[in-house]
Amino acid sequence: MTEEFKNDDLLVEQEFSRLLDDYSKTSHRQKVELITHAFHFAKEAHAGIRRRSGEPYIMHPLAVARIVVKEIGLGSTSICAALLHDVVEDTDYTVEDIEQHFGHKIASIVDGLTKISGGVFGQQASMQAENFRKLLLTMSEDVRVVLIKIADRLHNMRTLQAQPIEKQYKIAGETQYIYAPLAHRLGLFPIKTELEDLSFKYEHPDTYKQISDKLEKVRGDYMHIFEQFSAPIREKLELLGYTFELHARIKSVYSIWKKMKAKHVPFEEVYDLLAVRIIFDPKMDISEKDQCWMLYSALTEMYKPHPERIRDWISTPKANGYEALHVTVMGQEGQWIEVQIRTRRMHEIAEKGLAAHWRYKTGIDGEDETELDKWIRTIRETLQNPSPNAIDFLDTFKLNLFAEEVFVFTPQGEIKTMPQGATVLDFAYLLHSELGEHCIGAKVNHRLQPMNYQLCGGDQVEILTSYTQHPTLQWLEWVTTAKAQDKVKKYLRKQGVLSESIAEEEVHEPNTISKQKHITLTDDNINIIYHLSPCCHPIPGDEVLAFIDETGKVMVHKVDCEKAKTQKTRRGKTLISVDWDTAGAYTYEQTIRLEGIDKVGVVIQMLYSITESFHINITDIHFTAKDGLFTGTLQLQVHGIIELSNLFKELNKIKEIKNIERVN
Ligand code: MN
Repeated sequence: MTEEFKNDDLLVEQEFSRLLDDYSKTSHRQKVELITHAFHFAKEAHAGIRRRSGEPYIMHPLAVARIVVKEIGLGSTSICAALLHDVVEDTDYTVEDIEQHFGHKIASIVDGLTKISGGVFGQQASMQAENFRKLLLTMSEDVRVVLIKIADRLHNMRTLQAQPIEKQYKIAGETQYIYAPLAHRLGLFPIKTELEDLSFKYEHPDTYKQISDKLEKVRGDYMHIFEQFSAPIREKLELLGYTFELHARIKSVYSIWKKMKAKHVPFEEVYDLLAVRIIFDPKMDISEKDQCWMLYSALTEMYKPHPERIRDWISTPKANGYEALHVTVMGQEGQWIEVQIRTRRMHEIAEKGLAAHWRYKTGIDGEDETELDKWIRTIRETLQNPSPNAIDFLDTFKLNLFAEEVFVFTPQGEIKTMPQGATVLDFAYLLHSELGEHCIGAKVNHRLQPMNYQLCGGDQVEILTSYTQHPTLQWLEWVTTAKAQDKVKKYLRKQGVLSESIAEEEVHEPNTISKQKHITLTDDNINIIYHLSPCCHPIPGDEVLAFIDETGKVMVHKVDCEKAKTQKTRRGKTLISVDWDTAGAYTYEQTIRLEGIDKVGVVIQMLYSITESFHINITDIHFTAKDGLFTGTLQLQVHGIIELSNLFKELNKIKEIKNIERVN
């Protein structure tokens, strides 16, 4: 044996004993022998192969297996499948070989993983959609397939440095597009955060470095604030006789960046970098919910709570199973700090998602169906009658994957979960397709609202119907859920109104119809006509990129536009880098939203500033005031981002204005 191989062997054996170590700390039945067998089998199968980083290949399956046990909390079946996950794909062994050695269950999980081994994004859009469908199909058969796939992706992201740049870009884009939302939906919060952060790091290396450098500089200050803030809480909890942990949570680089973008503020003005988490072992004789509220009460005796920032995820857990009580209180220095109160069980569900969720689940199937179970059931149902257009399915499904939920009530007081942005029509279809097809509107909180009215959390909705009512093409613009879209399309196809050849773009975005404009963008291809994408409304000064779409049009997007991210992975080859010319001869439509305290004269002052000081044309205006607060939307014609940010600065001087943002 050469020196190199001896060292390799040592490295591999060490990693394997770490895996067994992680495993021995769990409450799973100890099937060390089976795991050892899987390890030797995989090691032998990948013998002599190295990763790009130079490590022996087996180090990758070992790392994936460790994520599976330690960070997701799965047991021996999943550990074995993780160890074997690349064997069928990369070596001469077959699924039958795996089945012979490890039985049917492990073999079928490896089979599922092999089927989805290619990227979700193949060369053509149709192939991507098909791969994605496969991914969901295997998930609805055995969720462990997707959990292991996520672990696989996490390790690939952690070691992405070794890949060539163009591969880094593609993998990061795909992670951002599908794996991070999937991890979120399955309740794997720390993994979701890490996936997003790593994608961001490879997609925007410079910005990532700037923010993380700044973050490192202030980390010490924040830890100091945490110590000060948590000391009295620690004392109180001890007095109450609790076993507990207090954690400081510092925002991730990616979420800091998101906040900076959304609020148009520099790093120094992101005020909620720190959150505090209380994890406690509940006492036997009182309900967990009661004890969380008791701690809430103890906490708010020490620190003043923000009256509008209490989130009770215990009475109504999130669809991904998340439970906790969030409250924002004022710290010693006058800063707002979010405190998350959780029991040990809630914490484990928040960290490990599904696996923990099912471990704690009691009762009989059906009776005790959680939101997460319902979601997986919906996927199964949707897949059973697939819509003829797979790409379309991908898009609508993706829509629902990203969406946060709102809770809506039926007139009987029953709670239904809807994705944010869902309309009255979506709700009607959710209740029953008959209600959907004949829907004419609804009474929302006893007031009449149209079919396309967007529901808010806590709305009580009574659907109104008429026998003469039927779906029309227009309805496709009014529904956002996959289920409702599917039903409306089915109806329209049956009536011959919708043929399968209708371009999807036109169905999804009725406003796409050529908002053509000669924009002063510069690049080498001088004769190109650019189209500003209607999804993100880029204006001069925004970081932009362009793609050639299916019809040959060059579409310009903002770099951080959701749609552009999809395009980047799908149509990477047609990507054109573009930049703005500084001439600024044209104006561009930009909508802004303002919120603040409703005081006489504020609106006048605002409008004066816009039209007189800046000479900006206002093309639409809408203000509402309620309970002493106002919200306004203004459509402006601006020359570019510099003008816009100067305007924001000026408007921010009006002290009643509390928030200004761009609307896409
Ligand atoms: Mn792998």
